[in-house]
Amino acid sequence: MNQEVKSTCCYCGVGCGVLIRTDGITVQGVRGDPEHPANYGRLCTKGASLHLTAQGEGRQRHPALRPARDRQPEQVSWAQALDTAVDRFAGIIREHGPDSVAFYISGQLMTEDYYVFNKLAKGLIGTNNVDTNSRLCMSSAVAGYKQTLGADAPPCCYEDIGQAGVILIAGANPALAHPIVFRYIEDARAANPALKIIVVDPRRSETAEIADLHLPILPGSDIALFNGMLHVMLAEGLVDGDYIARHTNGFDELAGNLAEYTPQRVAGLCGIPASSIVRAARWFATQGPALSLYCQGLNQSAHGTHNNAALIHLHLATGQIGKPGAGPFSLTGQPNAMGGREVGGLANLLSAHRDLANPEHRAEVAALWGIPDVPAKPGKAAVDLFKALESGEIKAVWIACTNPAQSLPNQASVRAGLARAEFVVLQETFADTDTAAYADLLLPATGWGEKHGTVTNSERRITRVQPAVAPLGEARHDWQIVVDFARRLGRKLQNPAVDRLFPYETVESIFAEHCVTTRGRDLDISGLSYSVLEQQGPQQWPFPEGASQGQQRLYADGRFPTADGRARFIAVAHQATVEVPGKEHPLSLLSGRLRDQWHGMSRTGIVPRLFNLDDEPLLAMHPCDMRHRQLDDGDLVRLFNGRGEIVVRVASRPGLARGRVWMPMHWGSRFMNSAGVNALVGDAVDPYSQQPELKHAAVEVAKSELN
Ligand code: SF4
Repeated sequence: MNQEVKSTCCYCGVGCGVLIRTDGITVQGVRGDPEHPANYGRLCTKGASLHLTAQGEGRQRHPALRPARDRQPEQVSWAQALDTAVDRFAGIIREHGPDSVAFYISGQLMTEDYYVFNKLAKGLIGTNNVDTNSRLCMSSAVAGYKQTLGADAPPCCYEDIGQAGVILIAGANPALAHPIVFRYIEDARAANPALKIIVVDPRRSETAEIADLHLPILPGSDIALFNGMLHVMLAEGLVDGDYIARHTNGFDELAGNLAEYTPQRVAGLCGIPASSIVRAARWFATQGPALSLYCQGLNQSAHGTHNNAALIHLHLATGQIGKPGAGPFSLTGQPNAMGGREVGGLANLLSAHRDLANPEHRAEVAALWGIPDVPAKPGKAAVDLFKALESGEIKAVWIACTNPAQSLPNQASVRAGLARAEFVVLQETFADTDTAAYADLLLPATGWGEKHGTVTNSERRITRVQPAVAPLGEARHDWQIVVDFARRLGRKLQNPAVDRLFPYETVESIFAEHCVTTRGRDLDISGLSYSVLEQQGPQQWPFPEGASQGQQRLYADGRFPTADGRARFIAVAHQATVEVPGKEHPLSLLSGRLRDQWHGMSRTGIVPRLFNLDDEPLLAMHPCDMRHRQLDDGDLVRLFNGRGEIVVRVASRPGLARGRVWMPMHWGSRFMNSAGVNALVGDAVDPYSQQPELKHAAVEVAKSELN
C-alpha cells in the first residue's frame, strides 16, 4: 500500500518540503509538502520531477576499484574497498604527514555527513584540508556577513518578501535558480502595487523582466553601484543617523571614502545612467521595508566579500535590518550549504561557526571532541586544494557528492591535479560524472529518497530528511561510509581516540552531538533534537535549550554578535574584474543557471522532460556582436580564450548588452563534445573568502568549422 514520507527537495537552497509517495520498495511520485513553511506545497519543475531521478538509472550500485588508471573499475566488496582506501591513506600520511591528504565535499550532503567528514579530517587525521563545493557559491556571503554583522547568519526569512516595500535583487536570478522564492516575489507584487523591485544584473535576466528598475551594470561593478547609492542617500539626508549612531561603527570613515562615488562617476564605472543610481537609492531608502536578495553574481567574484559588505552597508545606513520585510538576505545555492557552514566543514572553520584561526575556538572544539588539540595550520580551500594536487603537495583526495572536474575554474589545472594524484576516492550516488574518470576507488552513496539526516535552508530552517525506500544495490549512507573508514583508519594508525571520536551507530546520535557543540554560539540549537523536529516541524535557528520555537528574524534589538554588539561598516572600494576584455579577447563571458537543470546534470540529465525547454546550451550574444563576426542565429561557434575552447550554438539576444555573452553552466563533457564553461574561467580568488571569480572571463567568439 502506498504511503507518503516527509523529506526535502535536494536541489536549491530554498529547501522545499516534499512528500515522497512510495510502496515501500520504489519511489512512485512526489508532491510539495503543504505543511512545510518554505514552500507550503509548491514545487518547481525540478522538484516536481524528483521521483524520476530515483528509479536507479545511472546509479553507482557497488564499490569499484580501478586496477590501473587506464583500466575500467572492477567491483569489490565494501571491506576490500575501505581497506584499500585505509592502506593508501595511512601509507601516504605516514610517509608525508597528515597534510598530504585532503577531503573535498559538498553542500548537498546532510549536516550529519558533513559533521563526520570534518571530524575525520580535523579530529582524527589532524589536517584541516577539508573543503567543499560551497566554497564556490557561498563563502563570500559568509565572509561578508562576518565582517559587517559579526556572524554568518542570514537575518531574514521568506515571509519578509511579502512584507517588503522595496526588493533589491542583486546578482541573483530567482525566476530560474530559486523558483519558489520567485513565486513569493510575484505574490508580493500582486498583493502590493506600490512595491518597487530593483534588479541588478549585467544581463536582462528572467527576473529582470518583472523589475521596475533593471540596472544592467558592467560585470564586477557592484561595489561602485552600492557605494554610489549610499553617496546619494547621504547627500539627500536619507540615512538613519540614529540607527548608525546607536548600532554601528565605522560609518564616518566609510562616508569619507564615499565622496568620490558621485552618480556621474559611478555611472561611468557601472555603464548605466546616473539617474538610475539616484532612483535606486531613493527607492531603497524611502519605500518602506527594504529587502535585498542576492546570490552568486555578488559571491563569485575576486572581490565577492566586499560586494556583500557594500550591499549590507545600505541596510545598516538606513536601519533596514532586524524588522519585518527588511534585511540583507543571501540566497543559498545548494540545499545544505548552510548545514556545512554550521558544522565547520570548510578549511578555515570549526564546529558551530568557530574559526580555525582562533586559539580559543580550537581549544573548545578539542575539548568537545576529547582530543589534545585541533591543528592550527590552515587547510587548503577548494582552488588551492586542487593546485596542491597538481603540484604534488597533496597526494590523495577523497571527493564526496560533487564533480570538481566540471565545476571548478581552470579545468585544465584541476584535471591535471586529479591525474597526478596518487589516490582518488569518489563517494557518489551517480556513476557517470566528469570526475569519475579520475577515480581509483568509487564508493556508492545513497541518493534522494534513500537518505536521512537534516538540512538547513536559506532562511536558517532545519528540516529532517527521511528515507522513503531502502538504499539501492550496495549503496550506503554517506555518514556510514565515513564512520566505517574512520574506524578502520584509526586502528591502522593506532590512534587510541578513534572509538571515542566515532561512536555513532545512528544518524541521530551525530545530530545530537552537533547540537551540543552549538551551545552558547550564535546558532545555538541545543534545544533541538530529531523528536522536536518531528513533533514541531522544521525550525529556524537559533533554538537554544528551553526555547519553544526557532527565531524568525535576527537583530531585532539592534545588537550584533560582535565584541561590542555593534555592526561594522568597512572600507570598500570599486575594483575591476580580474580579467578585463581587450583586443584579443574582447567579450565578457557570464554564466548562470537554467530553470530545469541542476549543477552538472548528474540527476536532472537523466530526466527527458527536463530537456523540453532547453535541450542544449546556447551562447547568448547581442545581434550586433554576431553581425560583426558574420554569425547567424543557430551557428556553431568556438568560444575561446587562452585556457581552452568550447563549441556551442549561438543565439541572438538583443536584451544582452554588446560586449557580453552568456552561457548556462550545466553542460560538461559528459553532455557535449567539449568541456563546460568553467574550462574558460580563471582561478583568481577573493582574498577573504577564497571564492573564485567564476562569474567572469574575457573571451572571443568565432564561427566553427563544424557548421
Ligand atoms: Fe527544489 Fe529549489 Fe525548486 Fe524548491 S525551488 S522545488 S528546493 S529546486
